[in-house]
Amino acid sequence: MIQNPIPWPNSAKCAVAVTFDMDADSLIHISRPDDSHKRLYPISMGRYGPMVALPRILDTYKRLGIKQSFFIPGWCLEQYPETVEAILQDGHEIGHHGYLHEDPIETESDQKYWFERALASYTKICGGKPRGYRAPVYNINQTVIDLMIEHGLRYDSSLMADDIPYAMKTEKGELYEMPVHWGTDDWPPFAHYSEIDYMMPVKAPSEGLAAFWEEFDAQYEAGGFFMLILHPFLTGRLARWRLVEKWMKETMNSKDVWFARLEDIVAHLDNLREAGEYTPRIENLPYYTEPQR
Ligand SMILES: [Zn+2]
Repeated sequence: MIQNPIPWPNSAKCAVAVTFDMDADSLIHISRPDDSHKRLYPISMGRYGPMVALPRILDTYKRLGIKQSFFIPGWCLEQYPETVEAILQDGHEIGHHGYLHEDPIETESDQKYWFERALASYTKICGGKPRGYRAPVYNINQTVIDLMIEHGLRYDSSLMADDIPYAMKTEKGELYEMPVHWGTDDWPPFAHYSEIDYMMPVKAPSEGLAAFWEEFDAQYEAGGFFMLILHPFLTGRLARWRLVEKWMKETMNSKDVWFARLEDIVAHLDNLREAGEYTPRIENLPYYTEPQR
């Protein structure tokens, strides 16, 4: 049961977003800054995302007739402009995902510089400003929340305080949260990356994805919101993406779902509130302003 379900467009039972974080090889450059340029294996693993997986993903979305959301670090926008152009040409959304995938907690003192440098890359390559942001490794802090409000972004997608989209209020303004969770993130079942100290037993495609489909079933039953947080170099690989595409097709044909870009969900929530038809749950921020011990 969900206490405050959102009435979705056309009475759909559940909103679905298959989102991708296109980190490419930014991960190795931020984690091994001194010699990443010599490490060809992790560079190649990351490049698989924009060069091989993205065309495959875009092809699926085109055939299914859906538009979805991608989060891309500013440095990756600069490195892979053709991929970015293809994403935008198909009408998908691109959100802010840091500059070189820097962790906001670790770079707090110069977070403003990195946040705005990524925004500048976005404006130069994509035009305008992004609507949304997802923190690298979900590690958002209050500084980033404040920067998002200052720059007019409308939503974050890094936090976990609810099953469905909610609002976050600060003294400076308001943002929506499109909540994530590790249970629908492909990093735990599929990533194996010793250079960044992440080593997990890689699961079979069907086994790793099965956990996601169980999450969907619960959200669907409750009339909620199902979002996958995927990475092209992980789930864009042949065997995994083949199964995700199969699931999307079957779900579209047999269930009453709304596949949406996250910015479309923001617009929908704005409309509902304006019409007085829905009030989202609100989390007041900051949670804490000093250590709690
Ligand atoms: Zn990322």
